[in-house]
Parts: sequence; C-alpha cells; structure tokens
Amino acid sequence: MAKIIQNNDECIGCGSCAMLCPKFWEMDCEKGKAFLKGAQKNKATGEYELDLPAQTGTKNIDCNKDASDACPVGIIRIEK
Ligand code: SF4
Repeated sequence: MAKIIQNNDECIGCGSCAMLCPKFWEMDCEKGKAFLKGAQKNKATGEYELDLPAQTGTKNIDCNKDASDACPVGIIRIEK
C-alpha cells in the first residue's frame, strides 16, 4: 500500500499536479489550491493523506510521482 500526502497549506496553486494526474488531483479555483481527491486531513500534522490500496496499479502511483516531481514547492510526497 502507498500513501499520498500533501501539505495543502503550502500549495501555491500552480496546477501542475492536476494537469499531470487529474484522476487524483483537482484545483479549487476559489481557494487557489489543489486538492487530493478523497484525501483525509491528518489532525496531528495538518496534511492531507490518501491511502492507495495494494492492488493500485503502477500507472496510478506513477502519475502521483510525476505530480510530486513537478510540484515547485515540494509538498507532495509518496510513502510506502
Ligand atoms: S503542484 Fe504543488 S503547488 Fe502546484 S497545485 Fe499541485 S500541490 Fe499545489
């Protein structure tokens, strides 16, 4: 299982993640930030987290890796 994590507070709303991985990421234009679809806020860290089940295909993980690599402020990470 992998976990996708975003520090939403630091998002500058560039849109790269939503462009590269729209299945998982969407822009909230009013807030000027990207949101990880279906993610839950971790109350301890304030970050948003989404667990990907073990059967999740590498394609889905790869597109999140692309989003992480492209994020100009480095706030998307993937933990395994
Ligand atoms: S790539 Fe990073 S800074 Fe840009 S919208 Fe996505 S989370 Fe925000």
